[in-house]
Amino acid sequence: EDVVNKIAAAEIIHRPSNAIKELIENSLDAGSTSIKLTLKEGGLKLIQITDNGHGINRADLPLLCTRYATSKLRKFDDLQSLVTYGFRGEALASISFCSHVEVVSKTRDEGCGWRAHYANGELVPAKPGMSSDPRPAAANDGTVISAEDLFFNMPMRKRAFKSPSEEYNRILDVVTKYAVHNPHAAWVCKKAGTALPDISTPAASDVKSNISLLYTPSLAAELLEVKETVLQPADKLGAKCRGWVSSANANWARRGGWLLFINNRLVESSKIKKAIESLYTTVLPKGASPWVYLSLEIDPAKVDVNVHPTKSEVHFLNEDEMVEAIVAAVHGALANANV
Ligand code: ADP
Ligand code: MG
Repeated sequence: EDVVNKIAAAEIIHRPSNAIKELIENSLDAGSTSIKLTLKEGGLKLIQITDNGHGINRADLPLLCTRYATSKLRKFDDLQSLVTYGFRGEALASISFCSHVEVVSKTRDEGCGWRAHYANGELVPAKPGMSSDPRPAAANDGTVISAEDLFFNMPMRKRAFKSPSEEYNRILDVVTKYAVHNPHAAWVCKKAGTALPDISTPAASDVKSNISLLYTPSLAAELLEVKETVLQPADKLGAKCRGWVSSANANWARRGGWLLFINNRLVESSKIKKAIESLYTTVLPKGASPWVYLSLEIDPAKVDVNVHPTKSEVHFLNEDEMVEAIVAAVHGALANANV
């Protein structure tokens, strides 16, 4: 059983940035308006995320890291979304199978917070000989989750990470993208022990200000808005699209200028990416690439349910039409700018 769980965990958590993505999504699901990340050794030694969301009740702590705990599934009245995101209820479980997890959480209506430790899906004592029950703890409203020593029990996987700074850069990339997509929240990301964060955004910001802050002001100045568009044919595609894309004047020569969110989850779609890049080939100098942020809201039934849940690459029903409609929306934004 534990071997199966470990394999499942390794499938879902390939590297620190995968864990970060799951933890961020949980904090956002909890309605947080402040999300702070502290990392040691590119997240391999420590990932700590502090949010001000609704917190976790004392009663929910024992099953928090159980795979597919039924208590976690109650809120998914819509079975389809469960099928689509097949790993629902597996993120914290997976993290607890490949690191030492500590949770400190306080809900608004509890007088104090609670601290709990997890390994292999279960509550464990903080120190040998102690009880594994959650203990009262001083805490602010919200949740602090720490994952220490990622892959400590998977020596092969652990050895594969040559460079903590490369992992840290991947983390910064993920946090940057979520901060662009969620400008209502204040974001901080830093290395433990350093005073100056690498990412710091104010709460109640907006997409464009965060792009200016996190990428460059000159890029932000050359962005065109893709106003919210219902993709056509509407009844077939069941999708809306909005975003910001660089104009032909933007000089974006770096990597990492591709942000695609589907139903608020950061995903990859090589089809959409290729199709949009080809829109720019005639207008951009050689070697330059567009900078693209798109947010799609799609009826979950139209995202390919056959796709492996742990892969970030997504597919759609009616994929060609979907891609064509998205390209049309972006083309519209580019064409308007030339008038
Ligand atoms: P899922 O998000 O798919 O339900 P997870 O393993 O990611 O599964 O999280 C399990 C549950 O733990 C969530 O459904 C949520 O109820 C709770 N949870 C996790 N992180 C937080 C958080 N930061 N704030 C409040 N609740 C949380
Ligand atoms: Mg989750």
